[in-house]
Amino acid sequence: MRTHYCAEISEEYIGEEVTVAGWVASRRDHGGVIFIDLRDKDEVVQLVCDPADSEEAHRVAEEVRDQYVLVATGKVRPRGEGLENPNLKTGKVEIVVHSLTIENRSKPMPFDLGDEKVNEEIRLKYRYLDLRTPRMHKIFQLRSTAAIAARNSLAEMGFLEVETPVLTKSTPEGARDYLVPSRVWPGEFYALPQSPQLFKQLLMVSGFDRYFQLAKCFRDEDLRADRQPEFTQIDVEMSFMDQNKIMEVAERLIRDIWAACGFWEKLPNMFPRMTYKEAMETYGSDKPDLRFELKMVDVIDIFERCSNEIFSTIAKSPKKNRIKALKVPNGDNIFSKRQMKGFEDYVRKFGAQGLGYFQMKEEGLKGPLTKFFSEEDLQAIIDRCGLEVGDVVFFGAGEKKVVLDYMGRFRLYLAELMEIVPKDVHKFVWIVDFPMFELEEGKLKALHHPFTMPKLSDKGTLDYDDIEELESAAYDLVLNGTELGGGSLRIHKQEIQKEVFELMGISEEEAQEKFGFLLDALEYGAPPHGGFAMGFDRIIMLLAGTDSIRDVIAFPKTQKAQCLLTHAPSPVDPEQLKELHIRLRQRPTAE
Ligand code: ASP
Repeated sequence: MRTHYCAEISEEYIGEEVTVAGWVASRRDHGGVIFIDLRDKDEVVQLVCDPADSEEAHRVAEEVRDQYVLVATGKVRPRGEGLENPNLKTGKVEIVVHSLTIENRSKPMPFDLGDEKVNEEIRLKYRYLDLRTPRMHKIFQLRSTAAIAARNSLAEMGFLEVETPVLTKSTPEGARDYLVPSRVWPGEFYALPQSPQLFKQLLMVSGFDRYFQLAKCFRDEDLRADRQPEFTQIDVEMSFMDQNKIMEVAERLIRDIWAACGFWEKLPNMFPRMTYKEAMETYGSDKPDLRFELKMVDVIDIFERCSNEIFSTIAKSPKKNRIKALKVPNGDNIFSKRQMKGFEDYVRKFGAQGLGYFQMKEEGLKGPLTKFFSEEDLQAIIDRCGLEVGDVVFFGAGEKKVVLDYMGRFRLYLAELMEIVPKDVHKFVWIVDFPMFELEEGKLKALHHPFTMPKLSDKGTLDYDDIEELESAAYDLVLNGTELGGGSLRIHKQEIQKEVFELMGISEEEAQEKFGFLLDALEYGAPPHGGFAMGFDRIIMLLAGTDSIRDVIAFPKTQKAQCLLTHAPSPVDPEQLKELHIRLRQRPTAE
C-alpha cells in the first residue's frame, strides 16, 4: 500500500510523489491548513493537508484523530525556512497530500503513549498499544538483531539448532515446575522444562557434537524485577571440549551479539576470571559488580587479639566465621552521623547483629571500638585496609555466610548511595571454581545442577576431605553485577553421576524414576561434554539499558505471574477439567 517507509522520506525525494502509511502521532489545525505527524514502525513524517492543494484530502484530514490509520499520497517538498526539525530523519521535508484515506479509526488512547510514568498495569492491559511506541519498537529491533546475531555466530562455529520438547518431564534447575495434566493418561502430568539441560546432554550422546537453541524455559518462582515465569535462554552444548574452549565459545558469542547491536566498544579485550572464593570473600557475592572498587578485607586475625569478647569469640572460629572490613575512601567526610546509624539498620535486615566502624582522623583511628584494641593492632588495621585520613572502615562479624551476604549487599547499597556506579561501562567477569555442593538444612544441594562435573582426582575419582570444599567445573559469566549465564562440564560417566546423586541423598530408585533415561544414556558411549546457557532476556535488558525484564518481552506477565492482556491464568470450563480427570478441591471464590 506504500511506496516508502516514513523514515525514507528525505530531501532526495523533493518533487516526487510518494505514498506512506501509518498511525497519526499528532494533528494540528493551523487555521485552514492541517498538519499531521504520521508514524510507522520507525519514524514520523509530516503531512500537510492544504485545501488549496486538495479540498478532498483536507476534508478527510478534518475527521482525523490521534492514532487513526492513514494512507497518504502526495508530493515531497522542503519545509519552510526555520520550520525544520533536526530531531527527525525526515525533519527537512514534508509531504503535501492530495489523497488521504482513513483505513481505520481509533478510540481515544486509554493512556498517553510513550509517557514513561504511566502505571504499568494499564500499559500491560493494552500491551499492543504500549508496543506501538518508538521506545518499544527500538527494544524489539534490538532483540531481533541480537537473536539473529546469536544464531549466525553459533552457526558459523558449527552449531546445529535443534528444538527440544516443551511438554516433558521435570528438569531439576532447582525451581518449581509448571505442570500440564494429561488427558490420555489420567492422573499423570507433563512438566514444562526449566531448561533443556537433559535433552542437550542426550544430543551429545547422539553424536550431534554442537547444539544450540533459543529455548523457552519455565520456572514457577516468586518473581522479581529480572525474572519471568517463562523466559528465553541461548542454550548451548558441545562435545570433546575442555572448560577453556567452551568459555571461548561463549565469549565469541557475546562479542558477536555486542558487535551486531552496536556495542562493540563496550567489549573488553579479555574477559577476566575470578574464583568463586575470591568473589565471595572480596565482594560478598558470586556475581560481583566490578564497576567500582569497595573491596572487603579479612581482619579476623587482628580481632582475635582484641579485648571485646564478642569479637574475639567470633574470631576463634575462622573457618566458620568471618570478620570483614570494608573501606570507604573519604567516607568520614561524605556520611553524616545519622547516615552512619542508618547503615546499621540496613545490614540488620539481612541478619547482621550490628555494624562496627572506625574513622580515620589526623590523630589516628577513632570510633567506639578503638578502646578494645592495642596501639599495634589499630596500626595493623590501618595497614591492612590501607586507610588514609578521611576514610571510614566498616566491620561485619559473625557467621561466614551471613556476613558475606550482608556486607556484599551493603557494598552495593553504599555504591548506589555514593553514586559511584558508572552507568555506561560493561564490566564482565567469569566466576570459576564453584563449589559442587552447598549445605541447605543439613542436605547437600548442587550449586549449579546435579549433572555438573565435580573436579576429579588424577585417577578420575571423586576424592575430597571436606565435601563442601569440593569444586566443580562450573562457570558463570557476570556483567555489571548481573549473571548473564553459566554452564559447566557435565558428568559423562554413569558411576560418577550415581555417586553425586547418592551424596545428595537421592536414592537409586528416585534417580532411576526421575533421570533413568539419562543414566541409561550415559552407558551407551556418552562423550565428554559441556555447555552453557545465557539469559537472552537479561542480555537484551542490559543492552537496552532498562531495569525491567518486562520491557524486553513482548507479552510479559506481572510480578504475580498474570497476563493482564489475556487474563491468563483463568478458570476453565468444568468440562475441560473433567476430560483431564481433575476435580478442584475448592471452588474458586468469585472476586
Ligand atoms: N541448564 C543450565 C541453566 O539453565 C545452564 C547450563 O548448565 O547449561 O541454568
